[in-house]
Amino acid sequence: MKKTKEKDHYIKEIFKLEEAGEKVTVSALSKLFKVSKSSVSNMLKKLSLMELVDTLPYKPIKLTSKGRKFANEVVAKHRLIESFLVEVMQFNPNEVHEIAEEIEHINSPVFFSKVRKMLKQDTTDPHGSNIPKTDF
Ligand SMILES: [Zn+2]
Repeated sequence: MKKTKEKDHYIKEIFKLEEAGEKVTVSALSKLFKVSKSSVSNMLKKLSLMELVDTLPYKPIKLTSKGRKFANEVVAKHRLIESFLVEVMQFNPNEVHEIAEEIEHINSPVFFSKVRKMLKQDTTDPHGSNIPKTDF
């Protein structure tokens, strides 16, 4: 997995666990990503240096406000793309997740703002999840 993709992936999954009200721990992430606890810890150290997550001993992992803003954007991009694929391109809702996983990493806010403008409704994705508001 490419570095930026890995970072996006971690932040997004931590956001989704928090959204679902679940405790974010090294073992939960290690199970989810099917990687060792030490590689999860290494990645968390990097994310913590970037001030995206708070990691305290014996405490669940939390996104910082900067991390939350970043997560909001990645999640919004993913869900906007899923909506676009269904609403505009007539994909079946069960076909869009994998494609969105790829497209969400495009580094172009204007691209996603244009996607948003093309949608009739930009608040709920095809799976019924809320599409976060963003600055782009
Ligand atoms: Zn998806």
